[in-house]
Amino acid sequence: MTQLLPNFLGGRWIAGTGTGTPLFDPVLGDELVRVDASGLDLAAAFAFSRQEGGAALRAMTFVERAELLDRIAKLLQANRDAYFEIATANSGTVRNDSAVDIDGAIYTLVTYSKLGKTLGATRYLKDGEPVSLAKDALFQSQHIQVPTEGLALFINAFNFPAWGLWEKAAPALLAGVPVVAKPATSTAWLTHRMVADVVDAGLLPAGALSIVCGSSAGLQDALQELDVLSFTGSAETAAVIRRHPAVSARSVRANIEADSINSAVLLPGNEVGTPAFEALVKEVAREMTTKSGQKCTAIRRIFVPAPLFDEVGQAVSARLAKTVVGNPRSEAVRMGSLVSRAQLQAVTEGIALLQQSAETLYDGDGKAPVDADPAVACCVAPTLLGIRDSDAVSNVHDHEVFGPVATLIPYRDLDHAHAMVRRGKGSLVASLYGNDPAVIARSTLALAPSHGRIHVVTPASAGVHSGHGNVMPQSLHGGPGRAGGGEELGGLRALNFYSRRVAVQASPEVILSL
Ligand code: NAP
Repeated sequence: MTQLLPNFLGGRWIAGTGTGTPLFDPVLGDELVRVDASGLDLAAAFAFSRQEGGAALRAMTFVERAELLDRIAKLLQANRDAYFEIATANSGTVRNDSAVDIDGAIYTLVTYSKLGKTLGATRYLKDGEPVSLAKDALFQSQHIQVPTEGLALFINAFNFPAWGLWEKAAPALLAGVPVVAKPATSTAWLTHRMVADVVDAGLLPAGALSIVCGSSAGLQDALQELDVLSFTGSAETAAVIRRHPAVSARSVRANIEADSINSAVLLPGNEVGTPAFEALVKEVAREMTTKSGQKCTAIRRIFVPAPLFDEVGQAVSARLAKTVVGNPRSEAVRMGSLVSRAQLQAVTEGIALLQQSAETLYDGDGKAPVDADPAVACCVAPTLLGIRDSDAVSNVHDHEVFGPVATLIPYRDLDHAHAMVRRGKGSLVASLYGNDPAVIARSTLALAPSHGRIHVVTPASAGVHSGHGNVMPQSLHGGPGRAGGGEELGGLRALNFYSRRVAVQASPEVILSL
């Protein structure tokens, strides 16, 4: 039997009482470890987090909490090699793709540590300036933000076991709120290892960081009114989370990051060979293949002027043809596998569904995965689909295939392009490729209301831009509508979710004394 990973709850390691759910190597098929969350006293463990962890964090200043993040980042940096090994084994990712997750996590921690140090030796945040409520300003209103007195429960998706934890935990801990993390089962090992390293190093106060690996059963039941819940995952699970009495009756504040049919738009007037054309082609191929397309922000739809449909299709296909797929341990391989057999099946079915209304422009030239048994490895070729009649009925605007798959769609004019992008019903990100500032401004403002982020690539920024799908801690992450309606990151804005805004109405002396 493989090792059963214990949970860390109530300040101690505690194994589930069941035999556990196995985690697998998605390339070799080997069982790696097991996780189990049965038989845990979640109510008592959550109470410990609120009382011990919350009190200890709230007693610290922002600078002191920022120093905790700094120490965590340094520890993770020192243990980086072990994390890459786990990612290769459990996520099937090549080193560059594991880095998006692992180094992205460390970078986010470092960023929040730096931001936190700018807040000074204080324990709460002033929100705006005092406003007079009476004659002669003798009675005023001052808003402040204080850490919530509950805990932050994170229910996370399988595709970012490292970054998914720390992009939430960094602002939560900085805000003074204890964390309970529940990683997705299939890739929980890396999250578990990082938490274990931080716990073993004694970097955080007791109760500040806990982890449950395995079933999510009972987690929401244990939430109380002042707790917050941050969920990342599919739209289906998000709907279940929203219906739970913790959210619907006890008003637990919930942030939802769900799926998203993101777009890339080649703006009009950018012919073959122009910098914008080249930048779009490069970015689409990169987005499709990074982490085998298992990124919530990945480009799923590519909108191009109708006369350029074939040229873009051929140029993206030529790039995809250079992507060697297979065992991430092999030197030649550039794209590893999907995370599980379940994902392989979902992606295979998703491609078949989109193919009902789309033609296949590229699907791997029939090449077998390198250094991997196709019957075992969860490898899938990058697949570019295309729809020539963009007004015909198609599910490409509705169905997210969470793999290396994107669909090319022609548009007649900019309004037509915008209307089709909006058919995603709210997305995390759209990227625009062009050169004309007036056209870029028009598209940016047209698409802003239905997106969390607009990423613009011009010739001036083509060599330095941060990437369509890379989530930077300085910028907002989230999106309206289908994308879940959540907001994460965005620099210090992330602290709002973990804080309570309070209006203090008092005389100027009292407000000054705060
Ligand atoms: P998922 O199946 O919805 O699972 C997400 C998390 O929810 C997992 O931890 C899962 O636990 C848990 N869960 C499952 N059923 C639950 C229930 N009834 N109550 C509470 N929790 C429950 O999603 P996934 O397959 O891991 O992730 C892929 C999806 O996430 C994609 O749609 C992707 O677009 C989205 N995603 C979005 C973002 C973003 O930031 N917007 C980022 C990454 C991924 P188990 O694993 O134990 O089932």
